[in-house]
Amino acid sequence: MSVFSPSIEKLIESFEKLPSIGHKTAVRLAFHMLNCSEEETNSFVSSIINAKKNLKYCSKCYNISDTDPCTICGNTKRDQSIICVVEDVKDIIAMERTHEFKGVYHVLHGSISPMNGIGPDDIKIKELLARLMDGQVKEVILATNPRVEGEATAMYLSKLIKPLGVRVTRIAHGIPVGGDLEYTDEVTLMKALEGRREI
Ligand SMILES: [Zn+2]
Repeated sequence: MSVFSPSIEKLIESFEKLPSIGHKTAVRLAFHMLNCSEEETNSFVSSIINAKKNLKYCSKCYNISDTDPCTICGNTKRDQSIICVVEDVKDIIAMERTHEFKGVYHVLHGSISPMNGIGPDDIKIKELLARLMDGQVKEVILATNPRVEGEATAMYLSKLIKPLGVRVTRIAHGIPVGGDLEYTDEVTLMKALEGRREI
């Protein structure tokens, strides 16, 4: 038997489904929400609903954006001839924090992982190749995470892209093996970008 009433229990369960939220935090958040005014609650709920409704994928790079193309693809000051390939939308935010990269991105939305049944067709690889067909792109920087899946994805992409006559580089130095781009500090990430090498 739960010590909480079913409505509170349901709210706690909802918070527990969020990433990095354990039971204790879920209880704290649930009670915090119960103490909010009706106005605060409505504003919180509608911000989630609006974000879900308004946000879409950029049809070029598959970033999440209010607009299509996204603000990065639509920015004429960005170098459209260099594409930085990342696994996740959150990796774009990490790369942008460096203020070092002036090209555009391509979000794969995952990495190749035979163990988890994720093959090349399950992530945005053919969409990336389609972007390389018009000959405008000079370099593809593979910034997948330095984990087994990320490395395998980088190798796979390199083999596909090189024959197209496009320079392929891989970010290298500084990022710890097994690390996450999302949690890497700006300086380390900047060094990784500077130290990219041909693969
Ligand atoms: Zn875009």
